[in-house]
Amino acid sequence: MPIKRNNLNALYSAMDNLNIGKKDNKQKSYEIEGLFKPKMGADGKFTVVLRFLPAHPDEEIPWVENRSHMFQLSNGAWFGCDCAKKWNEPCPICDYNAKIWNKYGRTDEARSRVKDKWKPKFYSNVYIVKNPNAPETEGRVYRLEYGRAIMKMIQDAMADKDDAELGVIPGINPFSWWGPNDKAVLAGEDKAGANFVWEGVKGSNGPNYSSSHFSNPRRMCKLGQDGKLVEMTDAELDVVESQLFTLKDIEKQKDQLRSYEDILKFYKTKSGEDLFAEFEDGTDYTATVNTGKTVEADDDDMFEAAPRKTAEVPMEKEVPTEPLFEPEFEATKPTTSSVEAAEDEEDFFARLANG
Ligand SMILES: [Zn+2]
Repeated sequence: MPIKRNNLNALYSAMDNLNIGKKDNKQKSYEIEGLFKPKMGADGKFTVVLRFLPAHPDEEIPWVENRSHMFQLSNGAWFGCDCAKKWNEPCPICDYNAKIWNKYGRTDEARSRVKDKWKPKFYSNVYIVKNPNAPETEGRVYRLEYGRAIMKMIQDAMADKDDAELGVIPGINPFSWWGPNDKAVLAGEDKAGANFVWEGVKGSNGPNYSSSHFSNPRRMCKLGQDGKLVEMTDAELDVVESQLFTLKDIEKQKDQLRSYEDILKFYKTKSGEDLFAEFEDGTDYTATVNTGKTVEADDDDMFEAAPRKTAEVPMEKEVPTEPLFEPEFEATKPTTSSVEAAEDEEDFFARLANG
């Protein structure tokens, strides 16, 4: 007896709902539409002139942040979880680190035991003005993923500067497309923006971005026929505005996070060990033990110079399945480099660019 059509539909629908054999589903949901990735040249460098853009008309803040931990376990598996500290909620990994600092003090022993500090990933809309390594991206709007180092440059650019010769040099709004002579700026409604020259130089631990900088404040530009930058008309800015991405949809929401207990369970499943096993001797490691002061889990200077295991992580290698993250690069942290630069170097796209 032939199966009835509507039953067949129900069958397919039920099969779909099983959600098995579709390994890619989860992965796809973490893929970010319109993400810009710089292309490293044969000379081991890239230079991209870009403009950070204002927020999408439906949103207020021109960036979002996701915060997570990612590190390799002693059994070689990768472990990743979101960090609830972003919401000032307790995070087991941060708690573990605080206890380690309190138990061992500011020692190499502690540094060898702490798990990687949380890392922020910021996302903003950008317009690619000039990108010689991938000219097809020029004139287009993308979402840019960036880390602490670039966010710090944005922060610095926003601050007024005291110059011995020139007096106070007002900060810019890196997310503005206006120039100093535009109405909105003259009326004091907005500040001028500037192009960002993003320079990446291949290094042994990933690209170095330290020579990146904001140029002088000016109205948003496009690349002209002759290769020179041409300021955009109001109509052209309207077109760019219509192409802005929303960002809220890539921001992890608090109710999407695993609970504290779930993260502990997940850790045990992946590592075979209890995260807090070594603290179960009755001592209160939330307070000072050897350090002279109670430390916060994310004091930057505590992590600085932390010896890191070097691990080459081929991109195709098995990575944590739940929650799914890109495999983070565990670079040997050079003691001379700043934490920010090193953190940023670990960005996934940067590593991709680095091969
Ligand atoms: Zn945390």
